[in-house]
Amino acid sequence: MKAELQEQLLSHFPWARPISGRESLWSKYGFSIGDGWYDLIENLFSEIEVVYRVKGREVDLEIVQIKERFGVLKVYFYGGLDELYELAHKYEELSLSVCYDCGGQGQHRRIGFWWITMCDNCEDNRIASANRKLNGRE
Ligand SMILES: [Zn+2]
Repeated sequence: MKAELQEQLLSHFPWARPISGRESLWSKYGFSIGDGWYDLIENLFSEIEVVYRVKGREVDLEIVQIKERFGVLKVYFYGGLDELYELAHKYEELSLSVCYDCGGQGQHRRIGFWWITMCDNCEDNRIASANRKLNGRE
């Protein structure tokens, strides 16, 4: 995800910032997902805040990793409330219909050996760009 989008998310949700001074997958790689999934994270983090607000508590989870695996959004964290694991699962399911690149309506599909969730347009762009690279024109 673009650096400015990552920064935007972290400024909206300061509790998600990596713990300073501690090396982790999260501090090292940040949001290892496409720009199209920005809204999924924004919505997931908002829902997490609601869960805590209802209980009158501060958000106390630690993010371990946020990435794409076989075309599915994966959010791993440590600690926090039990409900959060259900929420993370809900957003995994939702990611199966959101385009990884543009955020439009996507479909879980395979490109070559890769599973990815994309719309037809973005898939065409990916394939065209991969072909240009193969032909040494990029
Ligand atoms: Zn798309």
